[in-house]
Amino acid sequence: MNLAVQSGPYDLATLPPMLRLYLEYKAKYPDALLFFQVGDFYELFFDDARTTSRALNLTLTSRDKNSANPIPMCGVPISAVDGYLERLVNLGHSVAVVGQVGEADPKKGMVQRALQRIVTPSVRVLSGALGEGDDTLLVAVEISPQMEVAVAWSTVKNGRVRVRDRFDFANLHGEIMRLAPQEVILPRMIDSKVVDRRLNWVRRLEAGLRPGAALRFRADESINLSQRRELNGLAGYSALSNLGRRAARQLVGYLDEVTVSSKLSISEISSDDSRDCMGIDASTRDHLELIANSRDGGTQGTLLGVLDLTRSFGGRRLLKQWILHPLVDQDQIEARLKVVRYLRDNLMLREDLQRALSEVGDIERISTRIELGAVSPRELGALRDAAQQVVSIAQKLALQSERPALLSTLLSELVVPSEIPSLLGRSLVDNPPLVMNEGGIFNPGFDPELDRLREIKEHGRSWMTELELHERSKTGISSLKVRYNSVFGYYIEITNANLERVPADYIRKQTTANSERYITPELKQREEELLGAESKICRIELERFSALVASLVCCVTPLRALARNLSTLDVLLSLAQVAERDSLIEPVINTGKALEIRAGRHPVLARMLEREFVANDLALGESAERCMIITGPNMGGKSTFLRQAALIVIMAQIGSFVPAERAQIGVTDRIFTRIGAGDNMAEGESTFMLEMREAAYILAGATERSLVLIDELGRGTATLDGVSLAQAILEWLASKIQCRTLFATHFHELTQLSERFEGIGNLSVGSIDRDGDVYFTHQIQSGPADRSYGLEVAKLAALPEELLTRAHELFEQHSSEQGISQSEGGQLALFGIVQRDVQRVEPSKPGKKNQGQSVQVTEKIVEPADYKKLKSLEQSIAKLDLNSITPLQALNLLADLVKRHDLDYVG
Ligand code: ATP
Repeated sequence: MNLAVQSGPYDLATLPPMLRLYLEYKAKYPDALLFFQVGDFYELFFDDARTTSRALNLTLTSRDKNSANPIPMCGVPISAVDGYLERLVNLGHSVAVVGQVGEADPKKGMVQRALQRIVTPSVRVLSGALGEGDDTLLVAVEISPQMEVAVAWSTVKNGRVRVRDRFDFANLHGEIMRLAPQEVILPRMIDSKVVDRRLNWVRRLEAGLRPGAALRFRADESINLSQRRELNGLAGYSALSNLGRRAARQLVGYLDEVTVSSKLSISEISSDDSRDCMGIDASTRDHLELIANSRDGGTQGTLLGVLDLTRSFGGRRLLKQWILHPLVDQDQIEARLKVVRYLRDNLMLREDLQRALSEVGDIERISTRIELGAVSPRELGALRDAAQQVVSIAQKLALQSERPALLSTLLSELVVPSEIPSLLGRSLVDNPPLVMNEGGIFNPGFDPELDRLREIKEHGRSWMTELELHERSKTGISSLKVRYNSVFGYYIEITNANLERVPADYIRKQTTANSERYITPELKQREEELLGAESKICRIELERFSALVASLVCCVTPLRALARNLSTLDVLLSLAQVAERDSLIEPVINTGKALEIRAGRHPVLARMLEREFVANDLALGESAERCMIITGPNMGGKSTFLRQAALIVIMAQIGSFVPAERAQIGVTDRIFTRIGAGDNMAEGESTFMLEMREAAYILAGATERSLVLIDELGRGTATLDGVSLAQAILEWLASKIQCRTLFATHFHELTQLSERFEGIGNLSVGSIDRDGDVYFTHQIQSGPADRSYGLEVAKLAALPEELLTRAHELFEQHSSEQGISQSEGGQLALFGIVQRDVQRVEPSKPGKKNQGQSVQVTEKIVEPADYKKLKSLEQSIAKLDLNSITPLQALNLLADLVKRHDLDYVG
């Protein structure tokens, strides 16, 4: 055990036993901050105290301030611990809570303590009453010596583990980005080599995690492998490779470790088959602002923000999952769409169901807390009330005629386990308390002993009056009084005048000036009962409550299934309400490869814009080209149009209606985006490198069923390199992959490609140029645009007037120097031939811009005369029969061509 880490300069031998115990726990849970109960506080010591006081802004004090090395400490009151835990896990910390249990140990003279719970960023079900509204995800990574990877993950609350089995190590980073977990468990060793945190891939993983997420290295992999036998019985588990199984066992092992003495049941292990749902990677999710906006990570301005009218936590979490994992099966999509249509048209039913759903609470979370023995009385009360709502929801649905099939299936599965009404219905009070030790959990009649004790407690006063009357009549002393004081407790007071009538069984306790005070055995027994009643009530209630929770554990799996069905209903109701609110239409889904949208609107922007949103048509594939180049002025609406297309496809494939007049959507297997570029300095990559990486990722993953959105590719490097790359990528997408593509660009040269490639067409954003002022119509039209109006748009950015005038001068000057229209230049660039006017040229390397000050590279499009030469050159080359000439003949021909066409430089 390495206690030195924490104890620093402190001499272990001289530390008090409590602090030694602290360090022993710390050695067992080195990754967690240790909350250590000392009376009414949780205290932290040593480094944990420093970290926690900084994180929570608590005062850092110290034990024995006068010593040479005072031990830092800080603390939080037990009553407020849940709030502090929540804040710490949100910052990415894990916390181990060690509480006092039982009485002081006479030998050690110290209160016994035990680890009670561990709360981590992804396993928060034990974090207390606050809980979390969103799903958290725990991921375990397993890496083979051959650098194959398996990844297992779980949201913890639903008892399911998904595994992506055996994939290439190079894709690990992308996979983690896609999953966006709160916590990742990584091996410390691969092939007996210690994983070095400075290794690039670990750094990249760390950089890719969202704020508050934690990366953990397993201390010793054998310790963490879960030994649970029941995993072998799960069908999905046996289908995994050894590596996949190890990943699953690592995950379950970690769960077992952090849930301390209780166990979460694992009901399903399944292999994550990306064919089940549309693939949306992390950058696409972020670019499209599906669930978090780029401004502050909130949901405002996101697709989730627009679609979320759910009434329950579970519904909200599920909607998020649906948005991130749209369906790819036509039948499943249509089944959802039918329910959305039905619920949209059935307003009364919808409102009734939504009202009931807003009362159901978070059944999924409550179920998990039952399983872990951490559920509160209030949560069980909520579960009991939820059960009643479920019955009323089921009754409402059962009354509906001509229900769509999916709704009928949901109805048939809205089953409340019979234990819930039978055990909770009569036992719990209407509003059970939040914490257990306050008492008042159970209804009268639930337990005769509890009733008796409560009777004693509550009727203490009337009992005193009754006893007084009884003793008066027994003794015939009318002035006899039953009284209470804190020194003697209950006593009988008799004035001096009546002392001869005092019965023999009265025991004298005290003499005052005018009276004597007595007690009786019966009086003392009642006193004990009365005073002990309160603590006994608490103890019995605790016992009964624990027994009640234990008897509910068998309901956890059916409760989770119920929760899932309620959440599904909640999401479908939300989609129906949004369909009505935003006048959405039902999309037509088919297995073709077309994407046709008439009068489509951006689902988010169209709601936010104060002015009118201009609806636009889009046709890709089948009746039109698969690949559209979109040109037009800056600020014209190109990016909006691209995003709008993707969002409409995602909406349709989750089963939502869409903002358009008509939409026909051939099921899309993946959506890729290359939109904008933020520098990824943490990974040491330039904007350009990132851009190229994203492009490579798209080309490797896109299929003919994918939708690819590319917005301004190749702008992070010299124009010539950029345009060449953009063209090559576009050609690849159009001819090799043949996926549906929207390619927005300011490289007007590229618009010429439509003449050479069958699958490529042009669209442009309309603008009106009136005396130098540009007006955007935001209307998408067929055909290319001829200008980007950069100078005109720059005016809007409030650049100095003088600067703009100078820019116009330069524009004129450059145009006349080049003496060629943009479109002609563009055509030449298509042949990859541009003349460079170079003083000293260094070859540009990918990812590196030319930075040397003495280097001046200007690119000049070739003159029109050269253009004619080149045309003729191209024709000459086209006539060659390459199969019938030798390499030497080819060289000679080449030399001849260069001579005949009088070319200086061919790049
Ligand atoms: P750039 O080439 O400079 O990146 P862009 O052509 O991609 O510009 P967008 O960013 O899509 O332009 O749009 C700019 C603004 O124009 C949007 O923020 C929005 O306010 C408005 N806009 C875009 N499309 C529409 C539309 N169809 N109807 C109304 N307003 C729109």
